[in-house]
Amino acid sequence: MRDPNCIFCKIIEGQIPSQKVYEDEEIYVFNDIHPWAPVHFLMVPKLHLPSMAQLGPEHAGVMGRMMTLVPKLAQAQGCNPYPDGGFRLIVNTGDEGGQEVHHLHLHVIGGPRPWRKG
Ligand code: AMP
Ligand code: ZN
Repeated sequence: MRDPNCIFCKIIEGQIPSQKVYEDEEIYVFNDIHPWAPVHFLMVPKLHLPSMAQLGPEHAGVMGRMMTLVPKLAQAQGCNPYPDGGFRLIVNTGDEGGQEVHHLHLHVIGGPRPWRKG
């Protein structure tokens, strides 16, 4: 379930503090510590999966639930409504994909521009 050396597993367990946005049995959501924009949170499955590269059909349920939560949480966190507002979803995967933390996570980024990055 958990990797004792993984920073996001430690956040899920409460061993490292985070600004929690949402939690259920399978999913934990918290603000990124270095936000690019007025809204920038990370969504992780509680199950330790290193990246998108490890996904199999058994993960379709939790991944689908994460995706369907995105619009609700984005709006609750301050993203303006589509189409003038909206948000950006990023899932960095592997070194060439720019991934730094190896616990699968979705970046949800949005809010009024200008953004600090992106
Ligand atoms: P990635 O490059 O996709 O692996 O992104 C990792 C993200 O995790 C970066 O945007 C970091 O700012 C963020 N991050 C790293 N440590 C923490 C932490 N303790 N709490 C919240 N976000 C973090
Ligand atoms: Zn982990």
